[in-house]
Amino acid sequence: MSRRAIFPGSFDPITKGHVDILKRALPLFDQIVVAIGENSAKKYFFPLAQRINFLKELFADEPKIEVNAYNGLTTDFCKTENANYILRGIRSSADFGYERTIAQFNSQLNNEVESIFLISSPEYAYLSSSVVREILKHKGDVSPFVPEIIVSKITDFKQA
Ligand code: ADP
Repeated sequence: MSRRAIFPGSFDPITKGHVDILKRALPLFDQIVVAIGENSAKKYFFPLAQRINFLKELFADEPKIEVNAYNGLTTDFCKTENANYILRGIRSSADFGYERTIAQFNSQLNNEVESIFLISSPEYAYLSSSVVREILKHKGDVSPFVPEIIVSKITDFKQA
């Protein structure tokens, strides 16, 4: 059976920290679906279409990575995608506490799904989408924090 994982998140926007987790997870799985969560109660900085666009551009040459959006329960999306693994990144003990609760909840909902965690690389342990959004709001330089090929797309979109 092929090993399919989903990597769920808001990716608002994707950062070098997300990319690091994905690249390190590639040898572990046959396929990884980057699953962009769309929760109608949540306000996003970038519209869904734009977040999909950034990710598709970034992984156009990586056949093991697919990009898709979902709403509803992550474990239901795993069924839809025929995926048995949920991939998440952990930066800190705060992330750990949060992720443990979600993982235990998810395994109650669907015990065929296993959550797999990778610890962030030290150079990205402080990095989050919210930091990038804050820099964008103040028209600062996000190039150290987001993948190079989408820097101008991200900046242009917000200045348009
Ligand atoms: P969510 O809103 O679900 O937390 P995010 O897009 O913020 O979505 O994050 C998706 C996943 O990527 C989460 O597991 C998060 O912990 C992980 N992640 C985010 N930033 C980093 C980073 N700098 N290093 C490692 N993992 C990260």
